[in-house]
Amino acid sequence: MQVLRTIPITQKMMSLTLEQGKTIGFVPTMGCLHKGHVSLIEAARAECDVVVVSIFVNPTQFLPGEDFSDYPQDLEGDKLKLERAEVDYLFLPSDEEIYPSEDVMGFRLPESLKDVMCGKSRSGHFEGVAQVCAKLFNIIRSHKVYFGQKDYLQTLVIQKLIEDFNFGIEMRVLPIVREQGGLAMSSRNKYLTEEEREAAQILYKALKAGDKSLIEAEPLVELEYFERHGDVLAVAAKVGKARLIDNVRL
Ligand code: AMP
Repeated sequence: MQVLRTIPITQKMMSLTLEQGKTIGFVPTMGCLHKGHVSLIEAARAECDVVVVSIFVNPTQFLPGEDFSDYPQDLEGDKLKLERAEVDYLFLPSDEEIYPSEDVMGFRLPESLKDVMCGKSRSGHFEGVAQVCAKLFNIIRSHKVYFGQKDYLQTLVIQKLIEDFNFGIEMRVLPIVREQGGLAMSSRNKYLTEEEREAAQILYKALKAGDKSLIEAEPLVELEYFERHGDVLAVAAKVGKARLIDNVRL
């Protein structure tokens, strides 16, 4: 696996790959990789000639007071997992490489996505996600891009971004990978104590039962929303230091 740290070198390598007539599959991540990320990489590996993974903790998608400065990191562990999954390129830019200036063009969420689920409570977050994905898509120029169903609203935002800005990328959405007790895997699960991890299992149980009172009865879990959008029932809750999300298709 080759580690690419600058935009010009990455663009050069991608151009060479495209000139060779190879297809590129891209998996954007914020690192601290787990089996959920690996499932996306495996799908890309199965469907594309060349697999690119990015690790970039994007400052513009964190709101004031969120965990940007202590977002979990495990670069050495990540590199081992990526090697094992036969990733070709790791794009690992610095903040300055992606945002050389603070005065950068931004995005606005469409009305249809503004007031649903996390769009309400994390105002500004998805605008940051769209901004960084637009940059990453222009740098990597993949045929397919891989996202997890766990971040359901994010998949809607990215699908709309791809359509509205004519990126011409095929978006693949992969199922949620869960821990044994049903808790959706997340880099933020690292924040949980054993007791909190146990308590957090109620999120998936409540989704399956369609019953938010199960969460309200769990003292370690502070419910943010339990909301239906189309055929998806989604939940967000604070458990200790972690803000967790999950969803099921009805
Ligand atoms: P993150 O590093 O949290 O930004 O996630 C990178 C990608 O992995 C996103 O598309 C997530 O939706 C996806 N992802 C995160 N957790 C899971 C999971 N448990 N199962 C499947 N995909 C996931």
